[in-house]
Amino acid sequence: MTHSQKIQLARFKKERAEQKLGELLDSIPEVAELNNEIDSHLKQLKKLKANCPHENHLAWYGCNTGNYDLYEEYWVDVECFDCGENERYYSNQEEYEKKWETDEIKAKKLKEQMAAITADALSDWNEI
Ligand SMILES: [Zn+2]
Repeated sequence: MTHSQKIQLARFKKERAEQKLGELLDSIPEVAELNNEIDSHLKQLKKLKANCPHENHLAWYGCNTGNYDLYEEYWVDVECFDCGENERYYSNQEEYEKKWETDEIKAKKLKEQMAAITADALSDWNEI
């Protein structure tokens, strides 16, 4: 038997063993119940991610100087920490803002900044 055949046989045996383990686990009622619970949570998570307002996102602005590629590029990298969605927009600020910096998100950020400033001012006041 060649080395390649040995590897193929080992992979086949591993897959067969995993299949048997899966069948055995599925035959245990508690495991089946937990699998149903996991499926239900995964479906709920998928739905929440699909409807994520991306409130908890960060944007990074990037560019290259054109030293190597002979042309300059500008972009925005965006990632949402809640749902994991991420995108890069090349020189298209409008498209980025339309999806990621909606009026609701801008208002929420402004409210958070005002609350932080107020908290700072109150803490300074209390020290006097
Ligand atoms: Zn999101």
